[in-house]
Amino acid sequence: MELACLDLEGVLIPEIWIEFANKTGIEELKATTRDIPDYDVLMKQRLKILADNNLKLDDIQEVIATLSPLEGAKEFIDWLRERFQVIILSDTFYEFAQPLMRQLGFPTLFCHKLEVDEEGFITDYKLRQVDPKRQSVRSFQLLNYRCIAAGDSYNDTTMLKQAEAGILFKSPQNVIDEFPQFPAVHEYADLKAEFLKASNRNLSID
Ligand SMILES: [Mg+2]
Repeated sequence: MELACLDLEGVLIPEIWIEFANKTGIEELKATTRDIPDYDVLMKQRLKILADNNLKLDDIQEVIATLSPLEGAKEFIDWLRERFQVIILSDTFYEFAQPLMRQLGFPTLFCHKLEVDEEGFITDYKLRQVDPKRQSVRSFQLLNYRCIAAGDSYNDTTMLKQAEAGILFKSPQNVIDEFPQFPAVHEYADLKAEFLKASNRNLSID
């Protein structure tokens, strides 16, 4: 039995915070973990910027609903779901991902949660657990699933290592150079081929 474990942002959809910053013109929201390595500090800053701009969860979801998955992502995930049980392991939040997950046909998503007050303002966030992507793969393996994982960034690498096979997709060159043990591809056609290669079943591409 085989599971496909996929990262979300950068693999199927654009980076939500970056796109949201572009749509709203709020430049400070473009900061990422590359600028502020401490995720908690970064998230607290993002939530403060949202509050300062009087943005409620509804407003944010409306903007996110205008975003689209990456070109070819829907076709890819439909292809993958015919051949594997697919689980998306993401560091985003259910409330942000919702409008984009709708466009992808609501595949199974494991991520984090926001806390929202009665007026609809985001007050806090809850991480599901530490190192959630790797812990998820570890748990699937305990259920006797063989896992093939794909992701684009540093927060995916512990998941890729834990899985029986790991694939880098649309990764920046520094990640590719730092993790030469994983095949690195940039197009969905090549990602399909890597999943077929990593599978222990005799699957066909079409
Ligand atoms: Mg990503």
